[in-house]
Amino acid sequence: MRAQKVAADSNYASIVRLVEEAVDSRAPMVRLADRYAVPFTIVSLLIAGFAWFLSGDPVRFAEVLVVATPCPLLIATPVAFMGGMSSAAKLNVIIKDGGVLEVLARVRAVAFDKTGTLTEGKADVVEIHPAARTVDETLQLAAAAEQYSVHVFADPIVASARTQQLELPEVVTADEVATNGVLASLADGTSVRVGKPSFIEEVTGPIDRPVLSAGETAVYVSVGDELAGVIILSDPIREQSADTVSRLRRAGVAEIAMVTGDITSTAESVAHAVDIQTVHAETTPQTKVRIVQAMRPRPVLMVGDGINDAPVLAAADVGVAMAGRGATVASESAAAVITSNDIARVADVAYVSRRTVQIALQSIWMGIIISVGLMLVAAFGYLPAVVGALLQEIVDLVAILSALRALRAHRGARRESSARREVPVG
Ligand code: ADP
Ligand code: MG
Repeated sequence: MRAQKVAADSNYASIVRLVEEAVDSRAPMVRLADRYAVPFTIVSLLIAGFAWFLSGDPVRFAEVLVVATPCPLLIATPVAFMGGMSSAAKLNVIIKDGGVLEVLARVRAVAFDKTGTLTEGKADVVEIHPAARTVDETLQLAAAAEQYSVHVFADPIVASARTQQLELPEVVTADEVATNGVLASLADGTSVRVGKPSFIEEVTGPIDRPVLSAGETAVYVSVGDELAGVIILSDPIREQSADTVSRLRRAGVAEIAMVTGDITSTAESVAHAVDIQTVHAETTPQTKVRIVQAMRPRPVLMVGDGINDAPVLAAADVGVAMAGRGATVASESAAAVITSNDIARVADVAYVSRRTVQIALQSIWMGIIISVGLMLVAAFGYLPAVVGALLQEIVDLVAILSALRALRAHRGARRESSARREVPVG
């Protein structure tokens, strides 16, 4: 028996860490309130000054200022944002910093990873096309190498060899070559490659690529400088992917792209099925970063899952990690983490963000308008200071209660998604 991780690396510990980061993040979007603070102060002083000037009574000045409450500006935003983060948590989305909600609310472009994000990432071996080796030998070689990989296709390949009770050859060294596959050398000195066709072709020269149907991917296996065989895996598209893309579009996202390490043909068939027009295939972690940085209009949201997505999740304006199968490196570099393995949460959390910002602004404006109204009443001498002091507390209370509506933002997201599901598409 071998311990592979210490407690601090467990899923539980990393989720606790994510939550702690979320709690530690300071109140966001104070800038939003700051934009209103100076004009509000000037208007208040002007009204108070005029009241004093016209009435000749300095008490009038005080009566006006008593109802000039800054509380909606100070507290509505943080209250709404804490509510929004809590709403997101109810949808199994952990947001690490309230500022993320503000950016998410304005998102104009979205980039999706394919494998494990738009597709389920719960692949199954469907078929094996033998070449230089038999079906069983191909699977044995692939499984031996994949034991050392954390890619979503590694587990199904190893599992398939196990269920067929195939004995795996002994591996001396194994290297995961990010987005390409695994490079392993066996005890008998042969070297095995498992992964993308271009990775295999580096040693075999040009190979024939099997025709795949939608929802299928191929993993190529080489031994020495020969193609051993090709493993066909089913990697079904998530049921909610197309709906999520269309909800984002309807919410005002102008550009949606797919950025994947997979080959063009597979990428295009998935993109077509979920109605994404822009496809960047055969990318590396580095090119993913460059593509997302070049995307317009901004801000750009990136949704991804694997280790190869960690850099691009950090590079996007907002990164959302799909961590349904456990928190990975991707979760640590993303600004928000979906813990429920449900891609619809991307559209849900975008909705919650927009609603939260809307509620914060409504609460601020409500406070400002009531406060200015009371100032005008006070300016004409109809509001004694004591009554004004009491009313201003009520204005504060109204602003806070209004901001608390953000606690229920997730209900709107659920309505938006269920309304969408009832309407048959196409
Ligand atoms: P995405 O960027 O869409 O998440 P990946 O870069 O994770 O896609 O994988 C794309 C392709 O890379 C897969 O379809 C597969 O052919 C190949 N690949 C990468 N690593 C491995 C591996 N360890 N085992 C098998 N295939 C791999
Ligand atoms: Mg992926």
